[in-house]
Amino acid sequence: MNTNDIYQALGVSAAVLAYGERILGTLTEQFAAIDANAELGQAKVLAAMQKNRVNATHFAATTGYGYDDEGRDTLERVYADTFHTEAALVRPQLVCGTHALAVALSANLLPGDELLAISGKPYDTLEEVIGIRPSPCSLAEYGVTYQQVDLLADGGFDLPAIRAAVNEKTKLVHIQRSKGYQTRPTLSVAQIGEAIAAVKSVKPDVVVMADNCYGEFVEPIEPSDVGADMCVGSLIKNPGGGLAPIGGYIAGTQACVDRCAYRLSAPGLGQEVGANLGLMPALFQGFFLAPTVTAAALRGAVFAAAAYESLGYRVVPSSSETRHDIIQAIELGSEAAMCAFCKGIQQAAPVDSYVTPVPAPMPGYDAQVIMAAGAFVQGSSIELSADGPVRPPYAVYFQGGLTWPHAKLGVLLSLQKMLDAGLIAL
Ligand SMILES: *Cc1c(COP(=O)(O)O)cnc(C)c1O
Repeated sequence: MNTNDIYQALGVSAAVLAYGERILGTLTEQFAAIDANAELGQAKVLAAMQKNRVNATHFAATTGYGYDDEGRDTLERVYADTFHTEAALVRPQLVCGTHALAVALSANLLPGDELLAISGKPYDTLEEVIGIRPSPCSLAEYGVTYQQVDLLADGGFDLPAIRAAVNEKTKLVHIQRSKGYQTRPTLSVAQIGEAIAAVKSVKPDVVVMADNCYGEFVEPIEPSDVGADMCVGSLIKNPGGGLAPIGGYIAGTQACVDRCAYRLSAPGLGQEVGANLGLMPALFQGFFLAPTVTAAALRGAVFAAAAYESLGYRVVPSSSETRHDIIQAIELGSEAAMCAFCKGIQQAAPVDSYVTPVPAPMPGYDAQVIMAAGAFVQGSSIELSADGPVRPPYAVYFQGGLTWPHAKLGVLLSLQKMLDAGLIAL
């Protein structure tokens, strides 16, 4: 028995297999670049772990207040050294990415301050945090005002408009690296660096926060390497390596991270409290795996882009573009195609593979949403998943894959379901 026999037993036809192999043959260079970058990321993480003398005592569980939690404190130094920041807050008590972002914002903005978003409208869930959509406990309720500068039509920063928008009230600048559920290109770390320089040339003491979700380990450097005062993200995306069952991180300057810790726990307590509840093995090992897991997800994204591009679909980014996050958008053009694609991704999953995803209403969306996810960790999007609002251009957002072979099987099965539904011809 060989791999293709098993693939056929799992429902991939010889025609789809052959198509997949033909596409893969064109991706040698991209895959080599992804692997070289993973090697760099792995070396960064290993260097940080060795410098901080990670040892077995750091994996012990703590409970209660969590005073003198060596494991937690060491993990935070490992993150800080990897991101080249003075400090980091890495906690299961940061319950998700939105929470980490909300803590970073509310800790560093006071009544009368202004928040300036310079990469357009922030991720959906931040609208309520900021108060763009009125919400109890939003920053707006606490007297923090908000201004936004949209990206240019080509997806780049509008530097003159950004410089003009900075005023005496501007305290914190928000930059979102990943496109989220938008069709704009993802921002590169180099572009983010230019924007930070522009902001700081007008007002050197402004705090810059980068929403780094989905971006970690995709490039050799992070926004914190180009002047961001805080990098914020979710542990059930790239940096958790698939093993973290919960958590968020904020890596940045000591002054910013201190305030975040006071906001997360309480003024006076800060980083000293917060039991690790036995999660240290998963958070350390997940961070150790994160560079190669991110690389697996990137290979899957490039394969999906190439496979669908070659069939005539619009994909963002294209298979040959340099990547700045792990998200692959594919405009499938119809509800039927979205359903077929998601059915294939779901069928490839280790968990809930027998389930058929169907579009359903979701709070906060004006269209039904379809989601394929067969994850070990609920909602984890570093695990292979696909989702999107069912409305023109009928784009699915494909991301994750803890291993490259799993991501590959997902893409093959998506093609199979498209073929079976008569939506493509190979
Ligand atoms: C996922 C994501 C968030 C929010 O993270 P959650 O863990 O879902 O709360 C914020 N910003 C971006 C760009 C994201 O991709």
